[in-house]
Amino acid sequence: MNVLPPSNRKSLAALTAAVPEGILLTAETDMAPYSRDWSGDHFGRPLAVARPRTVEDVSTLMKICFREGIPVVPQGGLTGLVGAAVAAPQGGEVVISLERLNRLRSISAIDFAMVVEAGCILEEAKSFAEAHDCVLPITFGAQGSCRIGGNVATNAGGFNVLRYGMTRDLVLGLEVVLGDGRVWNGLKVLRKDNRGYDLKQLFIGSEGTLGIITAAAFKLFPRPTQVETAFVGLRSVEDAMALYARARRECSDLLTAFELILRGGIDIALNAGAGLTDPLSEPYPVYVLIEASAGGRVDLRAILEDFLGDAGDIVVDGVVASSKAQAERLWLLRETMVETQGGGGRYLRTDVSVPISKLADFVTDTLAELAKHHPEALAVTYGHVGDGNVHLNIVPPQNSTPEAIEALFHETETIIFDVVDRYGGSISAEHGIGRVKQKAFLDRVDKVTLDIAGRLKDAFDPKHILSDGRILGAHSSIGGIADR
Ligand SMILES: Cc1cc2nc3c(=O)[nH]c(=O)nc-3n(C[C@H](O)[C@H](O)[C@H](O)COP(=O)(O)OP(=O)(O)OC[C@H]3O[C@@H](n4cnc5c(N)ncnc54)[C@H](O)[C@@H]3O)c2cc1C
Repeated sequence: MNVLPPSNRKSLAALTAAVPEGILLTAETDMAPYSRDWSGDHFGRPLAVARPRTVEDVSTLMKICFREGIPVVPQGGLTGLVGAAVAAPQGGEVVISLERLNRLRSISAIDFAMVVEAGCILEEAKSFAEAHDCVLPITFGAQGSCRIGGNVATNAGGFNVLRYGMTRDLVLGLEVVLGDGRVWNGLKVLRKDNRGYDLKQLFIGSEGTLGIITAAAFKLFPRPTQVETAFVGLRSVEDAMALYARARRECSDLLTAFELILRGGIDIALNAGAGLTDPLSEPYPVYVLIEASAGGRVDLRAILEDFLGDAGDIVVDGVVASSKAQAERLWLLRETMVETQGGGGRYLRTDVSVPISKLADFVTDTLAELAKHHPEALAVTYGHVGDGNVHLNIVPPQNSTPEAIEALFHETETIIFDVVDRYGGSISAEHGIGRVKQKAFLDRVDKVTLDIAGRLKDAFDPKHILSDGRILGAHSSIGGIADR
């Protein structure tokens, strides 16, 4: 039997007394789906899982947690990959899942804006927008599982950042329940508003450490009526970046994706047993998946074909999808590679970025260092290179012991991050810091940034009950935390 320490029993009793019936789960079997993330690498031991139905429920929960000093962690779709959304492994935290707060509150094709609750699955929010002939351009592999609150809290990126920006660039307003249970209503669909500080920006990318996002207002865009997709084979990453530089100018800024995949990734997809075939007749060291989209009277296909025709000095071979189904099969290559790259086992994930102008040198240098020190490991390399963002993931040799895997992950991550530092890059371009990247982040962050971050944490969450120990160290504080 799992005997709870007295402080946890007191917390549970306080919560049970205060929240409406049907909101709290406490049985281990009921809590299991909320205790493991998408990757299966991160597990938590929640004290309870709360599933509020309304903003008032969230506020009530937080008021009681604030009063009693009960630590909480907001949770979306659990696809965040840095161990931030599961409860602390040592126990004691209450998971607040936003899954039932999932309504579309409003949408206007004239304002090109929508207001959607935090628990809405991204793909469903995108479908709402499309039904109004608009597009919500946050697009990536996990969109069928991740939720709006998680997208905002991680400042999600994806395939379309090069055209539309990160989530930060798309949020017009937020509604947030603060650590003490008060509701901050910053929900608005204004395009221009210079009344003082832009507080919403502080919550975007804050990984649940400053408040619980309950709804977000997003910018929408006209839904493109034409989408063209091409898959091209190249000799080098350098050529891929040269092609990108040309594409930005010659495709009239109509590019919506420019995805790099090295041959190893294509081999993974082809060998995954998904019935995929190589779109090109011969293998090439490097590939780029290009998407352009437009509305109106633009002849998009002609623009893309002319561009690729003129780039014959760089493009060795390529195909432009002749149908939506063919385009989907090209994207399926990428998706299959991502989903099967670890062969069912653990692998090291990185999501780094460097200036676009340095990306080719960065990839060359990192792969050379990895091959020199760990020739036994497979480095799967792909990325949204139009944003300077690349994933360099490390798959250990089969039958490695858990200790050997740990050592390999530590050493290869150090190699990758050292090269990132040399190129003035970021160790986290997408997934955030959470728990997994915390040490690497704290080792690099400057004192002034840390001081400001600590003061922000103290101001928004004086008792440090919100996702404590994510991004910043547990209980790290400038002013000293008040009693919990
Ligand atoms: C296959 C795959 C592909 C991916 N591709 C990309 C990609 O291309 N680009 C990219 O940026 N990311 C990508 N990701 C990472 C991930 O999908 C995103 O970070 C996503 O935004 C997380 O959303 P979620 O709902 O799953 O959040 P969760 O994992 O549940 O939570 C993530 C963080 O947000 C916090 N949080 C969740 N909800 C709230 C809320 N309502 N209020 C406050 N804090 C909250 C959590 O506490 C945690 O810190 C990918 C992941 C997978 C598995």
